[in-house]
This record gives sequence, structure tokens and C-alpha cells, in this order.
Amino acid sequence: MSDTKSGDDKTLSVNTKKTLTLKRPGVEQGTVRQNFSHGRTKSVVVETKKRKFSMPGEKPEAPVAAAPVAPKPAAPVQAAPAPAPAAPVIQPVPRAPQPQRSQPASQPSRPAPRPSGNRGGMVLNELSSGEMDARRRALEGARVREQEERVRAAEDAKRRAEEDARRAKEREESARRQADEEARLQSEAESRRRAEEEARRRAPATVADAEEASEDGRSKARPVVAAKRGPVKPEVAAPRPAKTRGEEDRRRGKLTLSSATSEDDARGRSLSSMRRRQEKFKRSQMNEPREKISREVVLPETITIQELAQRMAERAVDVVKFFMKQGQMMKPGDIIDADTAELIAGEFGHTVRRVAESDVETGMFDIEDKAEDLKSRPPVVTIMGHVDHGKTSLLDAIRKANVVSGEAGGITQHIGAYQVEQDGQTITFIDTPGHAAFTAMRARGAQATDIAILVVAADDSVMPQTIESINHAKAAGVPIIVAINKIDKPEADAQKVRTQLLQHEVFVESMGGEVLDVEVSAKNGTNLDKLLEAILLQAEILDLKANPDRTAEGVVIEAKLDKGRGSVATVLVQAGTLKIGEILVAGNEWGRVRAIVDDKGGQLKEAGPAMPVEVLGLQGTPQAGDRFAVVENEAKAREIAEYRQRLAREKAVARQAGQRGSLEQMMSQLQTSGLKEFPLVIKGDVQGSIEAIIAALDKLGTEEVRARIVHSGAGAITESDVSLAETSGAAIIGFNVRANKQARDASEQAGIEIRYYNIIYDLVDDIKAAMSGLLSPERRETFLGNAEILEVFNITKVGKVAGCRVTEGKMERGAGVRLIRDNVVIHEGKLKTLKRFKDEVSEVPVGQECGMAFENYEDIRAGDTIEAYRVEMVTRTL
Ligand code: GDP
Repeated sequence: MSDTKSGDDKTLSVNTKKTLTLKRPGVEQGTVRQNFSHGRTKSVVVETKKRKFSMPGEKPEAPVAAAPVAPKPAAPVQAAPAPAPAAPVIQPVPRAPQPQRSQPASQPSRPAPRPSGNRGGMVLNELSSGEMDARRRALEGARVREQEERVRAAEDAKRRAEEDARRAKEREESARRQADEEARLQSEAESRRRAEEEARRRAPATVADAEEASEDGRSKARPVVAAKRGPVKPEVAAPRPAKTRGEEDRRRGKLTLSSATSEDDARGRSLSSMRRRQEKFKRSQMNEPREKISREVVLPETITIQELAQRMAERAVDVVKFFMKQGQMMKPGDIIDADTAELIAGEFGHTVRRVAESDVETGMFDIEDKAEDLKSRPPVVTIMGHVDHGKTSLLDAIRKANVVSGEAGGITQHIGAYQVEQDGQTITFIDTPGHAAFTAMRARGAQATDIAILVVAADDSVMPQTIESINHAKAAGVPIIVAINKIDKPEADAQKVRTQLLQHEVFVESMGGEVLDVEVSAKNGTNLDKLLEAILLQAEILDLKANPDRTAEGVVIEAKLDKGRGSVATVLVQAGTLKIGEILVAGNEWGRVRAIVDDKGGQLKEAGPAMPVEVLGLQGTPQAGDRFAVVENEAKAREIAEYRQRLAREKAVARQAGQRGSLEQMMSQLQTSGLKEFPLVIKGDVQGSIEAIIAALDKLGTEEVRARIVHSGAGAITESDVSLAETSGAAIIGFNVRANKQARDASEQAGIEIRYYNIIYDLVDDIKAAMSGLLSPERRETFLGNAEILEVFNITKVGKVAGCRVTEGKMERGAGVRLIRDNVVIHEGKLKTLKRFKDEVSEVPVGQECGMAFENYEDIRAGDTIEAYRVEMVTRTL
């Protein structure tokens, strides 16, 4: 009532003490009582100010801004009529709100005073008294309506409450009925049970009720909050949507009409139960909108539902529920297979990575780093493009330019990658031109490259390998920088290259695209710095980062077996820092890091992100593209390596079953598809023997079938022979030559058969048999291992003994052996002895040294390789 008065006094004026008044001249004051809904009132001081310019009388204004304007009509009885007769001149005061209330008859108040003189004032007065009447009527009507509405709302609320109560009672009833039914069916000893049943009947009823109530609370709780957040609306007058129970609870403290007249049900709940409910609701609010994170779920062959749920970071109950929806009753402890698990993971919006026994590997790679641990790292660049467009020249030119500008006399050595500096920033180049390394890495799931430089010769055009390179880069999501090379040539036409690139959706900047392009000459070293700058610019956009302060992981760029140094792998550290003495797993191999060598031949103690280094100390030779990671101990490393080797073996076996380039398969193809050609890749020790073989095979040809030599040459069987055989569906024949490790791996992977012969007659016979469909029993050979001869000892009575180190696989007693010198087979036969120190042993594993002597053969030299293999004869069945 009077609570606001003091406030008003303070803000407006003090009218008791005349002497100290703040009252402005020409301002009159009065208080007006305002009525609000719910019987609340408030008195407001209204100042009326006389206007100076008004001629006939004074025209006070209401400076009390918003507050009195609106309430004035709300206090019609006291305020409005009172001033009307007493001070007609003051009448215009209430006119301020008039334009707001749409009264069709009313004239706008502003234009009214403009015509001066009494007439204007008269019209004004007449109008306003008419208006006043109309307004009074309207207000009266509104008040009646309000009252009616209030009553109606109360009735509504009451009705709803009754309805609620009735429904609750019905539910209670039905629950009770159900309980009765169950009890009747289940109870055996009726009389004894009945007493219990009585008790239980009441219990389920209340429980059911409570459950219903909490259900209701949960489902209806949301509108409460919505209402809370929204603007506070008049509570009774406005026609409101159905009042929820939650809302009633909120206003529990107030005695409203509805609460006074109705229901006992809602009032029955305690304050703490309400608080609990509110808490529960809050919790559900917090949980519900939680953003769903899609995870990669590692799936072994089988997994329990519990474990699967855990890996998906879902609740096991939800997974069980999902099964239920599918009509399957499962428990969290139940084991499901990987297929089902994959399905479930998909349903829950996760991706899966299926691995068998792979738990040994989990946590090895892709350890997530915190954003604050990440530091900028140099970009890793690969150069791609068509053959002869100048990839090698460009790589060399960049390197040379940098070495000259860098430390004087720096010895460069080829390790498969190098780093250069530009403007104080480092760039890592992968020095294996062509996309072979790139694709090999991608095939193994490793991505080493951040930026691809596409070299296109300006005197040539976009060629097939250029397009291939573009596609590879795009598939890997690696941005391209175009280096238009050989611009020193007079016939160079860089613009033509740009236009041609358009056709392959490489839009260079000058063509309105975003791909950076630089015109360079590898030969003259023109614009190399611009190319490096472009790389740095691109790198800046990519914002490359890695955490140097963790265990290292990365990718193998190249690996070889080096005389004297053992296995040497060039690796690119991608995250963390690799240190000497750490245990490394790379592909199927592992080892302790013995030495770290950089691209300038310097010995390092450690190597950080984006650094390419040679690592010594691996037990075997990993493959290019293998990922590596540091593990905590030797046991773990061995476990992982063994697991991976097993996996690789299994894969190879699986592939062998479906070998494409095997003689038998070719033969059956000949028979079934009427293939008329017999494609072969032939590699021999000398050109002469190859010619002899080709001539012999030529003679074999009939009208129906003939051998087609896809490729022939002297020298070891290489990876490119294998890829050639792969594309042409050919078998590979090695005459007195072997396949190197890369070729062997590639052939295993591609499922291409390599057959070794040392007698032309055997070779021709086999091919003949294959071509005529009469294969003799197949001689299936399994490679066991290689050993390198380190030293040859001449021992009396025994003869020459080779002191060897097993570099690959293992040596086995009784296995077939070949002596290989410079990739050519010198001798084939059997071992006389296999010794470790003084003892005869049955096998010697990789990395160990042993002594070996051949039966009836003495010409062995240091540096030769001894290959061990096992032969099985498999009878061919048709
Ligand atoms: P790759 O097969 O792509 O690695 O190409 P190469 O680097 O082997 O270069 C092929 C040929 O192009 C070589 O004979 C180089 O001398 C020549 N070449 C490379 N870059 C340039 C250049 O900028 N200008 C000229 N005139 N010739 C070049």
C-alpha cells in the first residue's frame, strides 16, 4: 500500500517541508492509487506540470514517465472521474494515453491545441468528457470481464484438479486390479497369501502412484522452466493453457482460489519430495542435451555387451534396450560377435575399427593430445608428377640450394627425406619422388604428407601420371601446390599448363582458384625460394601442430638392410620425440633405437616432430609406409611384433588361396575363358639365358595358346616387375635370380606367383604343362629366411664354414638353401651344418649369428646371402 510511497518521495519531491522543496514551479502533485490483480495496490505520486505556452489555461503534463501512464486507466474510480469535474482544464492530462487506446471517436490530442482560442479548448473539453464516459464504460466492462475470467479460471483449475484426482484414482484402481490378477494367478497357498496380498495390494498401489507422479513430474517439468524463463504474465486474467501440476507446485506457497478450493492430492507431497523432483529434473536437463560424440570403437572378434557399451561410452542398459527392440533378450554380460557389435555401434552413431587380438596395440597410435600441448611443427612435403617432368631435379635443386646457403660443407646423404630452411622456418621434404611412396603409405593407413607439390613441365602438358597424382592428393585430402617446371626452356608455356589443370579441377590462383602455383626451373634454380615461400604460406593455413613432449610415433619412409649397420629405417617422427635407447615397433618389426642419424649424417640424441631421421637398431626391416611407435618395454614390443607377423602370415595365406598370377590359375583361366595368351614376366641372370628361354617358349606356341612375354630383363626381380605382372595378370619367372625383399613383399601382397628355375628345360617343361593343361605336381616353395655371410672360416676336416647373421626370417636345419651373390643364385643345395657357437641347432632366428656349411660346395664369400626355403610337392588335381 504505502510501501512505494517512500520511494516515490525520494525520487520526486518532499511535499511536507516547504522550505527545502525540490518542487519545480508550475508543477502540481497528487497521489493516485493503482489497483493490480490479486488485490495488490500501489500509490503513485503524479506530478502535473503546467505548460508555459498554453494560452487559455494551464496545460500540465504528466512527467512521471511510464508508470502513471499505464496504471491511470487501471484506477478509474478514484483517479479518473475525480479530476474530471474539478479541473476541466486539466482534463487533457489523461489524454496522453488516449492515442494508445484506440477510440475511434477521439481526436488526436496534438493537433487539438494548435488552433488557439476558446473554441479549440471547448471542443477539447467536450470531446474529453465524452471520451471519459466511454473510457469509464470500457474500464468497467474490462473489470467485469476480468472478474468473470478470474472466476472461470478458478473453476477451470478446480475442474482440472478434480479430473487429475479422478485419473490418479483410476490408475490406482487399475494397478490394484492388476496386482490382484497377478496375485490370483501366482498364489498357491491362497489363504496365507491373501493376508500378504492385502498388504501388497496397498503397496503396489502407492508405488504405482508414486511412479506415475514422478513420470508426470518429469514429463511436465519442462513447461515450468519455460514459464519461469518467459516474461511474467498476469496470472489469472489471461486465458492460459492447461495448468500443469508443476506450476501448481511452484505456487504452493500462495493461497490461490484453486488451491484453496481443491485437491488434496498435490498438496500431499512433502517439500523435500518436491526438491528431489526438482533435482532429478535438473539432472535430466543437464544430461539430455549432452552432445553426442562419435567414437571409433575398437572391435575384437567377440565382445561383451558391457565392454562394447563402455567402448562406445554408452550405457549398457541402452544397448540391452536396443536388443530388446530388435526382439532379442540380452544381458550386459553376453558375448556378441564383431558383426553384431558393428551394427550396434553404427546404430549408436559410432564408427568401428575391427581388429583381432589387437588389444596389444591399443593405445599405441593416435594418442590424443591436449590442445595446449600442441606446438607448431614444420610441414611435410611430397613431390609428385609425371615422369621426366623434373621431380628429382627439383628435389635436388632445393636441397643443393639449401646446403650451399646452410652450413658450409654439409655432407648430404640420401635417407629418403630431408629438411631445408626458408626464412628461419623448416620444411621437410620426402625425397622419394613419385607417388609410389605416397600410395604405399596411404595403403598402410599412414599419412605422412601435409602438402603435395605437383610438378608439371611447362614444355609438356598434363600427363597421365599428373592426373594420377592429382587424384591421389585429392583422395588423401592433401592440398596441392603446382610447380610449373622447366620455364627456362624456350618452348615453355606455363599458361597452357594452368588451363589444362582446370580440366582436372585444379584451379590455380591466376585462374580464380585457390591453388598456389609457382613457375620454377629446377635446372637454373629459378624461383625455388618462391616455391618454398608458397609451401610455408600453405603450411600456415594448415596450422600444423604436434605435441613434442610424449612418446614418439610416426611413419617409416624407407627401410633397408645395410651391410654393417643392420636394418636402417628412415622414419618421419609425426608426434612426440624419439630418443636413443627407446623401444620401437615399426610394422612387423621392433628394436631398441641404437642410433639416430639426420639427413646430413649427424648423430642425434633425439628427433622431434616432422623430423626425418635414420634409425638403427631394428631387428628386421620394416616396409615403407609402416607406422611406428615407441612402446614402454621390450616385452610389449615383442608381443605386438609377433602379433603383427602372425597377422601378415595369415593374410599371405589367405591371399595365396586366391592367387591371381599363378600358373595353375592361369591355366584354368585358359581352359574356362578361352584365354589365348599366357603372359609372363621373365627375369634372368644374363641376357643370353633370357633369350634362350624366350626362344624356347616361342616354340611352344600353338594356334590356340602362346606365351606372351610382358617384360624380360637381366637382374633381380624388383618391385616394378611385380607391379607390371600385377597389371598384366602375368606370372613371374626367375631364372637364376631372386626377388629382392620389396618385390617379395609386393608379390605376396598382390598375390603374384614368382617361380624360380635354374634349368631352362624345367622352366620350359612347366610352362608347356601349364599351357597344355597338364601340370606336373606342383613344387611349392616357402621362403624361410636369409642370412648374410659375414666371414668365411677354413676349418680343417670340415672345410669352408660361413659365419653368418640371420637378417630375415630364420635358418632351418634340413631346409633347402641357395647361395646368392649379387642377387644371382650361385648354388642350390643342402646345408651340412647349422651351428650356433659350438652346438648344432635346429634353427636360428633372425638377428642371431650362426655358422653354416654347404654340402659339397665350397665357393662361399663374405657378403653372399644364404637363402633358406622349404619345398613341398603338391600334386595337382583338376
Ligand atoms: P623426374 O622423372 O620427374 O624425376 O624428372 P627428372 O628430374 O629426372 O628430370 C627429367 C629431365 O628433365 C632431366 O633430363 C632433367 O635434366 C630435365 N629437367 C628437369 N628440370 C628441368 C628444368 O627446370 N629445365 C630444363 N631445361 N630441364 C629440366
